[in-house]
Amino acid sequence: MSSVIWFLLFVIGGLVLAYQRVSLRAATLTYGIALLIYALAGDASLGWMIALCAVLAGLVLLNVDPLRIRFISRPFLRTYRRMLPSMSQTEKDALEAGTVWWDGELFTGGPNWEKLMSATVPKLSAEEQAFIDGPCEDLCRQIDDWDITHRRADLPPHVWDFIKSRGFFAMIIPKKYGGLEFSAYAHSSVLVKLSSKSGVVASTVAVPNSLGPAELLLHYGTEEQKAHYLPRLARGEEIPCFALTGPRAGSDAGSIPDTGVVCKGLYEGREIVGIKLNFSKRYITLAPVATVIGLAFKLFDPDRLLGERTEYGITCALIPRTTPGVTIGRRHFPLNNPFQNGPIQGKDVFVPLDVLIGGVKMAGQGWRMLVEQLSVGRCISLPSSATGAAKAAVFATGAYARIRRQFNTSVGHFEGVAEVLARMTGHTYIMDAARSVTAGAIDGGEKPSVPAAMLKYHLTEMARTVADDAMDIHGGKGICLGPKNYLGRGYEMVPVAITVEGANLLTRSLIIFGQGAIRCHPFVLKEMEAARDKDKRRGVKAFDAALFGHMGFAISNSVRSLVMALTLARFSRVPESGSTQRYFQHINRFSASFAFATDVAMLSLGGYLKKKESLSARLGDVLSSMYLASMVLKHYDNQGQPEEDLPLVEWACRNLLYKAQEQLHSFLRNFPNRFLAAFMRFFIFPRGRTYSAPSDPLGQRIVDTILHTSVTRDRVTNGVYRTVEPNNPLGLLHEALVLADSAEPLEKRVRVDGVKTGEVTALDLPGQIQQSLAAGILSETEAAVLRDYDRRVMDLINVDDFAPEELAAASAPPAEVRIARASNA
Ligand SMILES: Cc1cc2nc3c(=O)[nH]c(=O)nc-3n(C[C@H](O)[C@H](O)[C@H](O)COP(=O)(O)OP(=O)(O)OC[C@H]3O[C@@H](n4cnc5c(N)ncnc54)[C@H](O)[C@@H]3O)c2cc1C
Repeated sequence: MSSVIWFLLFVIGGLVLAYQRVSLRAATLTYGIALLIYALAGDASLGWMIALCAVLAGLVLLNVDPLRIRFISRPFLRTYRRMLPSMSQTEKDALEAGTVWWDGELFTGGPNWEKLMSATVPKLSAEEQAFIDGPCEDLCRQIDDWDITHRRADLPPHVWDFIKSRGFFAMIIPKKYGGLEFSAYAHSSVLVKLSSKSGVVASTVAVPNSLGPAELLLHYGTEEQKAHYLPRLARGEEIPCFALTGPRAGSDAGSIPDTGVVCKGLYEGREIVGIKLNFSKRYITLAPVATVIGLAFKLFDPDRLLGERTEYGITCALIPRTTPGVTIGRRHFPLNNPFQNGPIQGKDVFVPLDVLIGGVKMAGQGWRMLVEQLSVGRCISLPSSATGAAKAAVFATGAYARIRRQFNTSVGHFEGVAEVLARMTGHTYIMDAARSVTAGAIDGGEKPSVPAAMLKYHLTEMARTVADDAMDIHGGKGICLGPKNYLGRGYEMVPVAITVEGANLLTRSLIIFGQGAIRCHPFVLKEMEAARDKDKRRGVKAFDAALFGHMGFAISNSVRSLVMALTLARFSRVPESGSTQRYFQHINRFSASFAFATDVAMLSLGGYLKKKESLSARLGDVLSSMYLASMVLKHYDNQGQPEEDLPLVEWACRNLLYKAQEQLHSFLRNFPNRFLAAFMRFFIFPRGRTYSAPSDPLGQRIVDTILHTSVTRDRVTNGVYRTVEPNNPLGLLHEALVLADSAEPLEKRVRVDGVKTGEVTALDLPGQIQQSLAAGILSETEAAVLRDYDRRVMDLINVDDFAPEELAAASAPPAEVRIARASNA
């Protein structure tokens, strides 16, 4: 055999070993055997043999632990320790919070699909289903959103009573304390339904079930605190709020200037050791009506009354509203969606030590408590509310685009509108998949902290796109506010969802990848922990194992990335062989490229990557796209792989994986070291950018299912409040959509046989129906059907108008009172 063929055999063999991730020992052995065969059978020159034997000797030496540690790992560890950025306790707490789930697999470059495909399928118990069909439906029926948002700026008393008495505030409270103890999926499904009717009601219900007093008490409270508060919260006798944010500390919540100083003072007539609190909070949801305030502040003990320490850090307490020194009750006005939200101040508020959640032993643990619990809450409240609103928008817009005709055609049939409608539906499918599959994972025992950030960011951003799209398709109908407008308030609610529970720019730039890279990477956290280990011997051994694991991992991912990019991942192993096989394979490919790019970026930029937010945000986008596409595939599987939904699966996967490709491309374009950028590009895009976005015909297939009654339409919008009743536009729109099937052929007959022949001359439909009846083009029954349809459609298309004085804010104080108040403040 010629030397060229031998050379190629060695290269291909090396690639196969790297692709298959064989251990260093197995790779050395295989190389040794290959070399022996070459020596016996080949016609190698002496020079070649010496070079190849030198490589073998190097490999053998790498397998000897003491040598490897002494000459490679230990010196490297010294440099690594110097490079390692310092980490505050706050950051450590954030990193350790929650569990690593599917996000961790995507970091490996070769995800184990079995882990995802065997994850718990989200399901409602009979009791949960009964709650959604019973109290939840009832609540939706009682909601008059215009009355809430425009006239009253609050929920009416009977709605408040219903919410409290039927356990809507107690979904996460265990039954033994009188709560509903719902699964994450049930909790999410309740929010989906409520937000399809009213953002104000959904926010009001979401907050007590998300991060707040109940959640904190459940996990960290003392038995007395649980026994006292949880039953009262479950019965709605206490309304909670949680106050972290203040005027000086928003996104950087760890820097709150609010203080609690341990000191002696008079409490209920006797001297005790307590805490003197001074704080100023704002934007606190439910604060104006809350009876108990969950408060975050920094605890100090200058006289060492609790122990040796003088500073404890962020601490959480529960303060009754009526505590002297607390000022509460004023309201903010969040973008025309007047859920209860307002500031709270406290001046020299003296409270006993037993207000600390979990007692004195939890002093200073506040930040850990918050980030630990955020991983579940953030997966549910905003992602579910955003999904519910998007489902409602698709449900309504599909019907509206069919019944609204311009140029004698349903507007949904115009290509320009169809493109937007397909986008709305595709995004909603992704959102529904992500929120329900992740809720299933939580019910299976996960606390996925990185997915929580991904869901919060991407689902609220998708809701923003869906809201914009719905408004565009509705034209003026979406813009004119009033009882007939079912879109405007949801549209105004979007920026609220974007801002709360970790504002989106921060979440994208700092959290998704910043947290994910360290938390989910199979080796980085191990290397950091080994480097920080106080036991130096143990540290260097652990570091050695992690370092060499990491090197093998990086080499393997570069090869996997290259091979899968060249073959378009056609041969990569995946669990499905049917219509979705290629999407699984493409995720494998992007996972390898992402893992490779991540390693090169971390190795070359180190701690500086944290500052290069645009780069890490793009890597975060790639991770999120793969995560969301995986959720789509699992969701499709969970739903029994219905053939009719395949266009949506294809749209969703194409849309997401195309984004992954484009963000990887932008990452490389902006990578500061141009040599490394070119090096990475060779392994990631050897054939250029080969993946394409969803096509127009694909979008058209989706639109056909949304403009008509169909199982796909029902599945995508499943869970919205669609009961047919006079005050529910969604129900009425769907009813009109059903009638359109029989009315449209009649309308066509009037046009073709009447208007076009000149027999019908009236300009509007009622007149045309009348003339068609007279001309025998329509029968009595057909005319009645068309008249009824036209009446319903016009009812839905019409918008409100008001007498000028009706729009004036009657309850607003006169300007001079407002000015006086402002100058007093
Ligand atoms: C309606 C509403 C309800 C709320 N409810 C509550 C509640 O119940 N309890 C509570 O404690 N808080 C609550 N909040 C507070 C909310 O969590 C904060 O508004 C949020 O954390 C952002 O703080 P900020 O508004 O001060 O923005 P800022 O922190 O001033 O940020 C301004 C912008 O800069 C971006 N940004 C900041 N740092 C970075 C960075 N490093 N990289 C990239 N971008 C960055 C942010 O994303 C944001 O876009 C609520 C807020 C609103 C509006």
